[in-house]
Amino acid sequence: MKRARIQDLSGQTFDFIIIGGGITGVSIARDAAMRGFSVVLLEKEDFAAGTSSRSTKLLHGGLRYLQQHEFKLVREACRERELFLYLAPHLAHIRPFIYVLYRGYPESPLLLNLGLTIYDIFSGNPIKRRHRMLNAKKLLEIEPHLNSAGLLAGGLYYDSLTDDARLTVETAKSAFDSGATIANYAEVVGFISEAGKIQGVEVLDRLSGASGSIRAKCVVNATGVWTDRVRALEKGIADRRLRPTKGVHIVLRKQDYPLQHAVFLRSPRDQRVAWPIPALDGDLVYVGTTDTFYEGPLEDVTASSSDIDYLLELARQAIPDAKLDYDSLVGTWAGLRPLVAADSSKSASSVSREHEIFVSPEGLLNIAGGKLTTARVMAQQLVDKAIALHGPEFRTRHPRAIATHKVPLSGGDLESISNAKRAVASIPVSAAIGNRWMSHYGGNAKYLAEICATDPSAAQEMGDGRITPAEIRYVVEEEMAMTVSDFFIRRSTIFFWTQDGGLAIADQVAAEMARQLGWSSEERAQQVRRYREQVTANRLVPTASHV
Ligand code: FAD
Repeated sequence: MKRARIQDLSGQTFDFIIIGGGITGVSIARDAAMRGFSVVLLEKEDFAAGTSSRSTKLLHGGLRYLQQHEFKLVREACRERELFLYLAPHLAHIRPFIYVLYRGYPESPLLLNLGLTIYDIFSGNPIKRRHRMLNAKKLLEIEPHLNSAGLLAGGLYYDSLTDDARLTVETAKSAFDSGATIANYAEVVGFISEAGKIQGVEVLDRLSGASGSIRAKCVVNATGVWTDRVRALEKGIADRRLRPTKGVHIVLRKQDYPLQHAVFLRSPRDQRVAWPIPALDGDLVYVGTTDTFYEGPLEDVTASSSDIDYLLELARQAIPDAKLDYDSLVGTWAGLRPLVAADSSKSASSVSREHEIFVSPEGLLNIAGGKLTTARVMAQQLVDKAIALHGPEFRTRHPRAIATHKVPLSGGDLESISNAKRAVASIPVSAAIGNRWMSHYGGNAKYLAEICATDPSAAQEMGDGRITPAEIRYVVEEEMAMTVSDFFIRRSTIFFWTQDGGLAIADQVAAEMARQLGWSSEERAQQVRRYREQVTANRLVPTASHV
């Protein structure tokens, strides 16, 4: 995936300009490009730099939304969860979840059984992964450290874990492979408006400082929690459509928090549901999430001590023998939900997770809300809407049929995955590195193996042995990684799963990236400094102000 230069794009006209490179924007770019439209996607920072790397990392139907009678949303999300097993098998991992019931919970075992039966049916796979109800004794056999006081029963069911940042990057790569033009660090700073209609955007390249004007038949605002800010670039728009809520996760070590299954339980404080989830990477468990209305700055959102206290309390409630405090934290992350709230009297947890598509007076097509899991369907609906609005103006009068459900994402094709496994096995890297490449890059791991075959020094392990120069070279050349933070947070995703976030090797990573991107020594130092600040802000240390 090659980064487009803003200077080259300036003056060009596309069918679609998509603003925002989170999962929603990249899914729209993929859908529109696969249907044969000309598309440019502009992201002001990096792909998934907003909410799409800060989720609970589940591809799920959303069991709890059944309680809010959101049957359509749950059915759609269950179907999409199943589809991801085919579209991106390297990024969709079915795992057992347990919904536990304690005395005092509003659900009875009967109601839970009914809910899980509906969930099985919606998944379209009721035989293969049918849920099982378990009594307290059976629950304690499979989760011996679970709090036994008041434990009534539980339901074991299945959902998928993913890596949200990687899913977003692989979708962006698929959009590019289908013909979309893409640039990260390209911020839309204004609209070109003529005769009362938006005809294009003014864009600023945040790396080179270059600016340009790009035109399109249809301009899409897919900027998540920034939706209102981008809408406000249109003359006369000042109202708010979004009410973001903040969601925080904390990461613990399994040795401190011995849990084998993801457990769905209620907070002792306010009865909200949350999960401790064994992570895909390492011997870790992450616990989330909080859900509180948020009014602060939208960039660089972090966990507060009260968010962390809330989650530690919930974690302790589930496993009372676990001695947890701030020293037990491997890390934290925080994200903002781009919720569309029509009714301001609703609580944060009861605002609908449904997405909305709406058109502004000057024709800006906005999309907000929804979920990582349902982004493909949201994209399909948005492109359908654009065709209904702009059909006759589009260059492609006869768009190709929708195929986003048939064609695997980049790295997801089964044949390419087996070829990659063979290629990786043929070079001298450890099994741990090989497995990491396969789970992060799927079929594209073949290219990492090829880099090592031509230059054996690219296979040399750095730091604790997770990273090799081959991975850095691959993500710079093929995944548009432009900063040290891009590498650690949204390509290797090491930021989430190690206490130092990879800082021990940050200088080496910066040196390797500098060779490829031509950074000066000042730029290199600045890159490491910026990443260090991000790690520090997400690793709350137990100082007096925090406790
Ligand atoms: P974002 O990912 O925020 O993307 C918007 C992008 O627009 C950003 O990258 C931003 O930089 C860019 N942008 C903004 N302004 C401009 C501009 N002027 N020019 C160019 N670009 C711009 N969903 C699930 O399915 N499963 C889950 O487990 C799950 N858990 C969640 C847990 C939490 C705590 C949260 C907050 C959400 C969760 N979700 C989950 C929901 C899901 O993560 C979001 O719905 C989804 O990531 C939103 O994606 P987006 O593309 O709309 O927004």
